[in-house]
Amino acid sequence: MQTAAAVADFRTYPLISDLANVQVHSDQLSVQWADGRVSPFHHQWLRDNCPCAQCVYSVTREQVLEIVDVDDNLTAVSAGIDQGFLSVEWRGGHHSQYDPGWLRAHAYDDESRAERRAAKPKSRLWNSDFELPVFDYAAVMQEPNILLQWLLALRDGGLTQIRGVPTEPGSLALIAKRISFIRESNFGVLFNVQSKADADSNAYTAFNLPLHSDLPTRELQPGLQFLHCLVNDATGGESIFVDGFAIAHALRSEDPEAFQALCEIPVEFRNKDRHSDYRRLAPIIALDAWGDVAEIRMANFLRGPFEAPVAQMPLLYRAYRRFIAMTREERFRLVKRLNPGELWCFDNRRTLHARNAFDPVSGARHFQGCYIDRDELLSRILVLQRQTAARPSQASQLAYLTAFTSQNVGAGLPARGPVNSPHIPGKKKPRSSRDWIGAQCLV
Ligand SMILES: [Zn+2]
Repeated sequence: MQTAAAVADFRTYPLISDLANVQVHSDQLSVQWADGRVSPFHHQWLRDNCPCAQCVYSVTREQVLEIVDVDDNLTAVSAGIDQGFLSVEWRGGHHSQYDPGWLRAHAYDDESRAERRAAKPKSRLWNSDFELPVFDYAAVMQEPNILLQWLLALRDGGLTQIRGVPTEPGSLALIAKRISFIRESNFGVLFNVQSKADADSNAYTAFNLPLHSDLPTRELQPGLQFLHCLVNDATGGESIFVDGFAIAHALRSEDPEAFQALCEIPVEFRNKDRHSDYRRLAPIIALDAWGDVAEIRMANFLRGPFEAPVAQMPLLYRAYRRFIAMTREERFRLVKRLNPGELWCFDNRRTLHARNAFDPVSGARHFQGCYIDRDELLSRILVLQRQTAARPSQASQLAYLTAFTSQNVGAGLPARGPVNSPHIPGKKKPRSSRDWIGAQCLV
Protein backbone atom coordinates (compact mmCIF):
# COMPACT_ATOMS: atom_id res chain seq x y z
CA MET A 1 0.00 0.00 0.00
CA GLN A 2 1.29 3.46 -0.84
CA THR A 3 0.41 6.21 1.58
CA ALA A 4 1.58 9.76 1.12
CA ALA A 5 0.70 12.78 3.19
CA ALA A 6 -2.17 14.91 1.89
CA VAL A 7 -1.23 18.21 0.28
CA ALA A 8 -3.30 21.07 1.63
CA ASP A 9 -5.15 23.48 -0.58
CA PHE A 10 -4.27 27.19 -0.26
CA ARG A 11 -7.79 27.70 1.06
CA THR A 12 -9.31 26.28 4.20
CA TYR A 13 -12.72 24.63 4.14
CA PRO A 14 -15.03 24.85 7.13
CA LEU A 15 -16.25 21.61 8.59
CA ILE A 16 -19.97 21.90 7.84
CA SER A 17 -20.83 18.37 8.89
CA ASP A 18 -18.92 15.28 10.00
CA LEU A 19 -18.88 12.15 7.93
CA ALA A 20 -21.29 9.60 9.39
CA ASN A 21 -21.21 6.57 7.13
CA VAL A 22 -19.66 5.33 3.88
CA GLN A 23 -20.88 2.57 1.60
CA VAL A 24 -18.93 1.17 -1.34
CA HIS A 25 -20.86 0.44 -4.55
CA SER A 26 -19.59 -0.86 -7.87
CA ASP A 27 -18.66 2.49 -9.44
CA GLN A 28 -19.19 4.98 -6.61
CA LEU A 29 -19.18 5.56 -2.87
CA SER A 30 -22.21 6.75 -1.02
CA VAL A 31 -21.22 9.15 1.73
CA GLN A 32 -23.72 9.97 4.43
CA TRP A 33 -23.11 13.14 6.44
CA ALA A 34 -24.02 13.67 10.09
CA ASP A 35 -26.59 16.30 9.03
CA GLY A 36 -28.37 13.68 6.93
CA ARG A 37 -27.23 14.67 3.45
CA VAL A 38 -26.14 11.84 1.17
CA SER A 39 -23.47 12.55 -1.45
CA PRO A 40 -22.45 10.04 -4.10
CA PHE A 41 -18.84 10.23 -5.28
CA HIS A 42 -17.77 8.19 -8.30
CA HIS A 43 -14.60 6.15 -7.85
CA GLN A 44 -13.13 7.91 -10.83
CA TRP A 45 -13.87 11.36 -9.36
CA LEU A 46 -12.34 10.46 -6.00
CA ARG A 47 -9.22 8.96 -7.54
CA ASP A 48 -8.91 12.02 -9.80
CA ASN A 49 -9.02 14.27 -6.73
CA CYS A 50 -6.64 12.33 -4.49
CA PRO A 51 -4.77 15.02 -2.51
CA CYS A 52 -1.69 12.90 -1.72
CA ALA A 53 1.82 14.16 -2.42
CA GLN A 54 2.19 11.69 -5.30
CA CYS A 55 -0.90 13.04 -7.03
CA VAL A 56 -0.40 16.74 -6.19
CA TYR A 57 2.90 18.64 -6.16
CA SER A 58 3.23 20.04 -2.67
CA VAL A 59 4.93 23.28 -3.72
CA THR A 60 2.47 24.45 -6.35
CA ARG A 61 -0.55 22.51 -4.98
CA GLU A 62 -1.27 21.59 -8.58
CA GLN A 63 -2.25 18.16 -9.78
CA VAL A 64 0.44 15.87 -11.17
CA LEU A 65 -1.84 12.88 -11.73
CA GLU A 66 -3.67 12.61 -15.02
CA ILE A 67 -6.74 10.45 -14.68
CA VAL A 68 -6.05 8.79 -18.02
CA ASP A 69 -3.04 7.12 -16.37
CA VAL A 70 -5.32 5.29 -13.94
CA ASP A 71 -6.95 2.03 -15.01
CA ASP A 72 -10.48 2.87 -16.20
CA ASN A 73 -11.76 -0.19 -14.35
CA LEU A 74 -10.64 1.53 -11.19
CA THR A 75 -12.43 0.35 -8.05
CA ALA A 76 -12.23 1.04 -4.35
CA VAL A 77 -11.26 -2.08 -2.38
CA SER A 78 -12.51 -0.53 0.82
CA ALA A 79 -13.53 2.81 2.26
CA GLY A 80 -14.19 4.12 5.73
CA ILE A 81 -13.89 7.04 8.12
CA ASP A 82 -10.48 7.48 9.73
CA GLN A 83 -10.13 10.26 12.33
CA GLY A 84 -12.90 12.16 10.61
CA PHE A 85 -11.39 11.81 7.13
CA LEU A 86 -12.74 9.73 4.26
CA SER A 87 -10.19 6.99 3.68
CA VAL A 88 -10.16 4.92 0.47
CA GLU A 89 -7.99 1.91 -0.56
CA TRP A 90 -7.77 1.50 -4.31
CA ARG A 91 -7.25 -1.76 -6.16
CA GLY A 92 -3.64 -1.71 -7.26
CA GLY A 93 -2.47 -0.28 -3.97
CA HIS A 94 -3.02 3.49 -3.86
CA HIS A 95 -4.48 5.04 -0.72
CA SER A 96 -6.37 8.35 -0.52
CA GLN A 97 -7.64 10.47 2.34
CA TYR A 98 -10.07 13.35 1.95
CA ASP A 99 -10.69 16.24 4.32
CA PRO A 100 -14.43 16.33 5.13
CA GLY A 101 -14.57 20.13 4.73
CA TRP A 102 -13.03 19.92 1.28
CA LEU A 103 -15.25 16.99 0.31
CA ARG A 104 -18.42 18.80 1.33
CA ALA A 105 -17.32 21.95 -0.53
CA HIS A 106 -17.00 19.88 -3.72
CA ALA A 107 -19.86 17.38 -3.32
CA TYR A 108 -21.95 17.19 -6.47
CA ASP A 109 -25.23 15.74 -5.24
CA ASP A 110 -28.19 17.88 -6.38
CA GLU A 111 -28.62 19.63 -3.04
CA SER A 112 -24.94 20.61 -2.74
CA ARG A 113 -24.85 21.87 -6.32
CA ALA A 114 -28.01 23.92 -5.83
CA GLU A 115 -26.55 25.35 -2.63
CA ARG A 116 -23.37 26.38 -4.42
CA ARG A 117 -25.34 27.89 -7.28
CA ALA A 118 -27.36 29.93 -4.80
CA ALA A 119 -24.16 31.12 -3.10
CA LYS A 120 -22.67 32.42 -6.37
CA PRO A 121 -22.10 36.18 -5.96
CA LYS A 122 -25.04 38.01 -7.48
CA SER A 123 -24.97 41.32 -9.24
CA ARG A 124 -27.03 43.90 -7.39
CA LEU A 125 -28.80 45.76 -10.17
CA TRP A 126 -29.28 49.49 -9.80
CA ASN A 127 -30.92 52.44 -11.47
CA SER A 128 -31.09 56.23 -11.14
CA ASP A 129 -31.59 56.18 -7.36
CA PHE A 130 -28.47 54.08 -6.76
CA GLU A 131 -26.85 54.71 -3.40
CA LEU A 132 -23.30 55.13 -4.58
CA PRO A 133 -20.77 53.26 -2.40
CA VAL A 134 -18.08 55.80 -1.46
CA PHE A 135 -14.77 54.84 0.18
CA ASP A 136 -11.99 56.84 1.75
CA TYR A 137 -8.61 56.72 0.02
CA ALA A 138 -6.51 56.45 3.20
CA ALA A 139 -8.70 53.63 4.58
CA VAL A 140 -8.52 51.64 1.33
CA MET A 141 -4.75 52.05 1.26
CA GLN A 142 -4.21 51.02 4.88
CA GLU A 143 -6.94 48.65 6.00
CA PRO A 144 -7.32 45.24 4.33
CA ASN A 145 -10.91 44.98 5.56
CA ILE A 146 -11.91 48.28 3.91
CA LEU A 147 -10.07 47.24 0.78
CA LEU A 148 -12.11 44.03 0.74
CA GLN A 149 -15.38 45.95 1.25
CA TRP A 150 -14.53 48.21 -1.66
CA LEU A 151 -13.73 45.28 -3.94
CA LEU A 152 -16.94 43.45 -2.99
CA ALA A 153 -18.94 46.62 -3.74
CA LEU A 154 -17.23 46.76 -7.14
CA ARG A 155 -17.86 43.09 -7.87
CA ASP A 156 -21.53 43.18 -6.93
CA GLY A 157 -22.61 46.72 -7.81
CA GLY A 158 -20.15 47.59 -10.56
CA LEU A 159 -19.74 51.28 -9.60
CA THR A 160 -17.86 52.88 -6.70
CA GLN A 161 -16.26 56.18 -5.82
CA ILE A 162 -13.15 56.93 -3.76
CA ARG A 163 -12.53 60.31 -2.16
CA GLY A 164 -9.48 61.93 -0.66
CA VAL A 165 -7.13 60.82 -3.44
CA PRO A 166 -4.01 62.98 -3.95
CA THR A 167 -4.33 65.13 -7.07
CA GLU A 168 -0.73 64.77 -8.15
CA PRO A 169 -0.58 63.18 -11.64
CA GLY A 170 0.24 59.46 -11.32
CA SER A 171 -1.37 59.00 -7.89
CA LEU A 172 -3.96 56.74 -9.47
CA ALA A 173 -1.34 54.02 -10.00
CA LEU A 174 -0.92 53.56 -6.24
CA ILE A 175 -4.54 52.77 -5.59
CA ALA A 176 -4.95 50.66 -8.73
CA LYS A 177 -1.98 48.56 -7.69
CA ARG A 178 -3.72 47.98 -4.36
CA ILE A 179 -5.78 45.52 -6.44
CA SER A 180 -3.19 44.23 -8.88
CA PHE A 181 -1.44 44.77 -12.20
CA ILE A 182 -2.56 47.65 -14.35
CA ARG A 183 -3.49 46.62 -17.86
CA GLU A 184 -1.61 48.66 -20.40
CA SER A 185 -3.18 49.56 -23.73
CA ASN A 186 -2.28 51.63 -26.76
CA PHE A 187 -3.48 54.63 -24.71
CA GLY A 188 -0.73 53.99 -22.12
CA VAL A 189 -0.51 52.59 -18.58
CA LEU A 190 -2.28 55.67 -17.29
CA PHE A 191 -4.19 57.63 -19.90
CA ASN A 192 -4.99 61.32 -19.71
CA VAL A 193 -8.53 62.39 -20.50
CA GLN A 194 -8.37 65.97 -21.72
CA SER A 195 -9.30 67.68 -24.93
CA LYS A 196 -6.42 67.85 -27.36
CA ALA A 197 -6.07 69.01 -30.91
CA ASP A 198 -4.64 65.76 -32.33
CA ALA A 199 -7.19 63.48 -30.59
CA ASP A 200 -6.87 59.74 -31.34
CA SER A 201 -10.23 59.05 -29.67
CA ASN A 202 -13.44 61.03 -29.15
CA ALA A 203 -12.63 60.73 -25.42
CA TYR A 204 -9.86 63.28 -25.97
CA THR A 205 -12.18 65.97 -27.27
CA ALA A 206 -14.70 68.20 -25.49
CA PHE A 207 -17.65 66.39 -27.18
CA ASN A 208 -20.50 64.77 -25.41
CA LEU A 209 -19.65 61.02 -25.24
CA PRO A 210 -22.60 58.59 -25.39
CA LEU A 211 -22.84 55.66 -22.95
CA HIS A 212 -20.21 53.07 -23.75
CA SER A 213 -17.73 50.49 -22.49
CA ASP A 214 -14.02 51.09 -23.12
CA LEU A 215 -12.06 48.97 -25.60
CA PRO A 216 -14.99 46.93 -26.98
CA THR A 217 -12.55 46.56 -29.85
CA ARG A 218 -10.57 43.92 -27.87
CA GLU A 219 -11.22 40.22 -27.43
CA LEU A 220 -11.28 40.88 -23.66
CA GLN A 221 -12.63 44.27 -22.65
CA PRO A 222 -10.87 45.66 -19.56
CA GLY A 223 -12.71 44.59 -16.43
CA LEU A 224 -12.25 47.66 -14.25
CA GLN A 225 -11.86 51.22 -15.28
CA PHE A 226 -10.57 54.01 -13.05
CA LEU A 227 -11.14 57.70 -13.75
CA HIS A 228 -9.33 60.04 -11.39
CA CYS A 229 -10.13 63.76 -11.36
CA LEU A 230 -7.06 66.00 -10.98
CA VAL A 231 -8.60 69.25 -12.19
CA ASN A 232 -12.19 70.09 -13.06
CA ASP A 233 -12.74 73.80 -13.55
CA ALA A 234 -14.60 73.53 -16.85
CA THR A 235 -18.34 74.04 -17.21
CA GLY A 236 -20.16 70.77 -18.01
CA GLY A 237 -18.48 67.41 -18.34
CA GLU A 238 -20.63 65.57 -15.75
CA SER A 239 -20.12 61.81 -15.58
CA ILE A 240 -23.12 59.65 -16.48
CA PHE A 241 -23.46 55.96 -15.65
CA VAL A 242 -26.01 53.24 -16.32
CA ASP A 243 -26.00 49.68 -15.05
CA GLY A 244 -25.77 47.75 -18.32
CA PHE A 245 -26.87 44.58 -16.53
CA ALA A 246 -30.02 46.32 -15.26
CA ILE A 247 -30.83 47.47 -18.80
CA ALA A 248 -30.18 43.98 -20.21
CA HIS A 249 -32.35 42.52 -17.47
CA ALA A 250 -35.18 44.95 -18.25
CA LEU A 251 -34.82 44.27 -21.99
CA ARG A 252 -34.97 40.53 -21.32
CA SER A 253 -38.40 40.88 -19.71
CA GLU A 254 -39.76 43.77 -21.82
CA ASP A 255 -38.60 42.58 -25.25
CA PRO A 256 -37.19 39.01 -25.17
CA GLU A 257 -36.73 38.88 -28.93
CA ALA A 258 -34.54 42.00 -28.92
CA PHE A 259 -32.59 40.66 -25.96
CA GLN A 260 -31.91 37.38 -27.76
CA ALA A 261 -30.82 39.22 -30.92
CA LEU A 262 -28.24 41.22 -28.92
CA CYS A 263 -26.97 38.00 -27.32
CA GLU A 264 -26.60 36.19 -30.63
CA ILE A 265 -25.87 38.56 -33.51
CA PRO A 266 -22.26 39.73 -33.49
CA VAL A 267 -21.36 43.35 -34.14
CA GLU A 268 -17.91 44.65 -35.04
CA PHE A 269 -16.16 47.35 -33.03
CA ARG A 270 -13.10 49.09 -34.41
CA ASN A 271 -10.45 51.43 -33.12
CA LYS A 272 -7.82 52.64 -35.49
CA ASP A 273 -5.25 55.35 -35.74
CA ARG A 274 -2.00 55.81 -37.59
CA HIS A 275 -0.26 53.02 -35.64
CA SER A 276 -2.94 50.50 -34.65
CA ASP A 277 -6.04 48.79 -35.95
CA TYR A 278 -8.04 46.86 -33.37
CA ARG A 279 -11.22 45.01 -34.33
CA ARG A 280 -13.52 42.68 -32.50
CA LEU A 281 -16.67 40.93 -33.70
CA ALA A 282 -18.89 39.92 -30.78
CA PRO A 283 -22.50 40.18 -29.55
CA ILE A 284 -23.43 43.23 -27.43
CA ILE A 285 -24.65 41.06 -24.54
CA ALA A 286 -22.69 38.02 -23.34
CA LEU A 287 -24.11 35.40 -20.97
CA ASP A 288 -22.17 33.22 -18.54
CA ALA A 289 -22.37 29.43 -18.17
CA TRP A 290 -25.58 29.81 -16.10
CA GLY A 291 -27.34 32.05 -18.60
CA ASP A 292 -26.88 35.20 -16.49
CA VAL A 293 -25.78 38.44 -18.17
CA ALA A 294 -21.99 38.63 -17.80
CA GLU A 295 -20.90 41.42 -20.13
CA ILE A 296 -22.07 44.40 -22.16
CA ARG A 297 -20.02 45.51 -25.16
CA MET A 298 -21.05 48.89 -26.45
CA ALA A 299 -19.57 52.02 -27.99
CA ASN A 300 -21.53 53.48 -30.85
CA PHE A 301 -18.63 55.68 -31.95
CA LEU A 302 -16.43 52.59 -32.42
CA ARG A 303 -18.99 50.42 -34.18
CA GLY A 304 -18.51 49.19 -37.73
CA PRO A 305 -21.37 48.74 -40.22
CA PHE A 306 -23.66 45.87 -39.23
CA GLU A 307 -23.06 42.68 -41.15
CA ALA A 308 -25.89 40.27 -40.46
CA PRO A 309 -27.99 37.94 -42.64
CA VAL A 310 -30.46 39.96 -44.70
CA ALA A 311 -33.43 38.49 -42.84
CA GLN A 312 -31.98 39.49 -39.46
CA MET A 313 -31.00 43.09 -40.27
CA PRO A 314 -34.36 44.67 -39.31
CA LEU A 315 -34.38 42.75 -36.02
CA LEU A 316 -30.79 43.78 -35.25
CA TYR A 317 -31.62 47.45 -35.85
CA ARG A 318 -34.76 47.20 -33.74
CA ALA A 319 -32.86 45.58 -30.87
CA TYR A 320 -29.90 47.97 -31.12
CA ARG A 321 -32.11 51.06 -31.21
CA ARG A 322 -34.08 49.76 -28.25
CA PHE A 323 -30.94 49.18 -26.18
CA ILE A 324 -29.51 52.63 -26.92
CA ALA A 325 -32.90 54.22 -26.25
CA MET A 326 -32.96 52.50 -22.86
CA THR A 327 -29.51 53.91 -21.98
CA ARG A 328 -31.09 57.36 -22.46
CA GLU A 329 -34.04 56.67 -20.16
CA GLU A 330 -33.92 58.67 -16.94
CA ARG A 331 -34.88 55.61 -14.86
CA PHE A 332 -31.44 54.08 -15.47
CA ARG A 333 -29.16 57.12 -15.44
CA LEU A 334 -26.96 58.32 -12.62
CA VAL A 335 -25.43 61.77 -13.28
CA LYS A 336 -22.68 63.17 -11.04
CA ARG A 337 -19.89 65.66 -11.35
CA LEU A 338 -16.48 64.37 -10.28
CA ASN A 339 -14.41 66.78 -8.18
CA PRO A 340 -10.62 66.95 -7.83
CA GLY A 341 -9.37 64.22 -5.47
CA GLU A 342 -12.24 61.87 -6.34
CA LEU A 343 -12.16 58.87 -8.58
CA TRP A 344 -14.62 56.53 -10.21
CA CYS A 345 -13.86 52.86 -10.28
CA PHE A 346 -16.37 50.75 -12.17
CA ASP A 347 -16.85 47.44 -13.96
CA ASN A 348 -16.18 48.41 -17.56
CA ARG A 349 -17.83 45.22 -18.83
CA ARG A 350 -21.05 46.09 -17.03
CA THR A 351 -21.40 49.78 -16.16
CA LEU A 352 -21.59 51.97 -19.23
CA HIS A 353 -20.19 55.45 -18.82
CA ALA A 354 -20.63 58.73 -20.61
CA ARG A 355 -19.70 62.36 -20.28
CA ASN A 356 -21.62 65.51 -21.00
CA ALA A 357 -19.93 67.95 -23.33
CA PHE A 358 -17.77 70.51 -21.54
CA ASP A 359 -16.55 73.96 -22.41
CA PRO A 360 -12.74 73.86 -22.62
CA VAL A 361 -12.60 77.66 -22.65
CA SER A 362 -14.32 77.90 -19.24
CA GLY A 363 -11.51 76.13 -17.37
CA ALA A 364 -9.11 73.20 -17.28
CA ARG A 365 -10.36 69.60 -17.02
CA HIS A 366 -7.90 66.78 -16.50
CA PHE A 367 -8.72 63.19 -15.57
CA GLN A 368 -6.38 60.22 -15.54
CA GLY A 369 -7.57 56.69 -16.08
CA CYS A 370 -6.36 53.11 -16.17
CA TYR A 371 -7.66 49.55 -16.49
CA ILE A 372 -7.39 46.33 -14.50
CA ASP A 373 -8.84 42.99 -15.61
CA ARG A 374 -11.78 41.44 -13.77
CA ASP A 375 -9.74 38.32 -13.02
CA GLU A 376 -7.41 40.44 -10.89
CA LEU A 377 -10.32 41.83 -8.89
CA LEU A 378 -11.82 38.37 -8.26
CA SER A 379 -8.48 36.83 -7.33
CA ARG A 380 -7.72 39.68 -4.92
CA ILE A 381 -11.10 39.22 -3.23
CA LEU A 382 -10.53 35.47 -2.74
CA VAL A 383 -7.04 35.99 -1.34
CA LEU A 384 -8.23 38.72 1.04
CA GLN A 385 -11.08 36.47 2.19
CA ARG A 386 -8.64 33.59 2.62
CA GLN A 387 -6.42 35.78 4.78
CA THR A 388 -9.34 37.08 6.83
CA ALA A 389 -10.63 33.54 7.41
CA ALA A 390 -7.15 32.26 8.18
CA ARG A 391 -6.17 34.90 10.70
CA PRO A 392 -8.65 35.19 13.54
CA SER A 393 -5.92 36.34 15.91
CA GLN A 394 -2.22 37.02 16.11
CA ALA A 395 -1.57 33.85 18.16
CA SER A 396 -3.31 31.53 15.75
CA GLN A 397 -1.55 33.26 12.87
CA LEU A 398 1.79 32.10 14.28
CA ALA A 399 0.53 28.55 14.65
CA TYR A 400 -0.77 28.73 11.13
CA LEU A 401 2.56 29.81 9.71
CA THR A 402 4.29 26.97 11.52
CA ALA A 403 1.85 24.41 10.16
CA PHE A 404 2.49 25.58 6.64
CA THR A 405 6.26 25.74 6.78
CA SER A 406 6.48 22.15 7.98
CA GLN A 407 5.91 21.27 4.31
CA ASN A 408 3.06 18.84 3.74
CA VAL A 409 0.27 18.70 6.19
CA GLY A 410 0.03 15.12 7.36
CA ALA A 411 -3.08 13.09 6.68
CA GLY A 412 -5.39 13.28 9.64
CA LEU A 413 -4.70 16.95 10.29
CA PRO A 414 -7.14 19.63 9.20
CA ALA A 415 -6.15 21.18 5.90
CA ARG A 416 -4.48 24.55 6.23
CA GLY A 417 -3.37 27.11 3.74
CA PRO A 418 -0.29 29.30 3.73
CA VAL A 419 -0.06 32.84 4.97
CA ASN A 420 0.81 35.19 2.19
CA SER A 421 2.67 38.36 3.05
CA PRO A 422 0.08 41.05 3.43
CA HIS A 423 0.34 43.77 0.84
CA ILE A 424 1.79 46.82 2.51
CA PRO A 425 0.89 49.96 0.62
CA GLY A 426 3.83 52.08 -0.29
CA LYS A 427 6.36 49.47 0.83
CA LYS A 428 7.60 48.91 -2.67
CA LYS A 429 8.75 52.22 -3.99
CA PRO A 430 6.68 53.13 -7.03
CA ARG A 431 8.32 54.48 -10.09
CA SER A 432 8.00 58.21 -10.43
CA SER A 433 4.57 59.42 -11.44
CA ARG A 434 5.94 60.47 -14.82
CA ASP A 435 6.67 56.83 -15.64
CA TRP A 436 2.97 56.02 -15.43
CA ILE A 437 1.85 58.64 -17.85
CA GLY A 438 1.38 57.14 -21.26
CA ALA A 439 -0.53 59.76 -23.16
CA GLN A 440 0.78 63.27 -23.52
CA CYS A 441 -0.13 65.55 -20.62
CA LEU A 442 -1.30 68.97 -21.81
CA VAL A 443 -2.05 70.73 -18.52
ZN1 LIG B 1 -2.75 9.92 -4.52
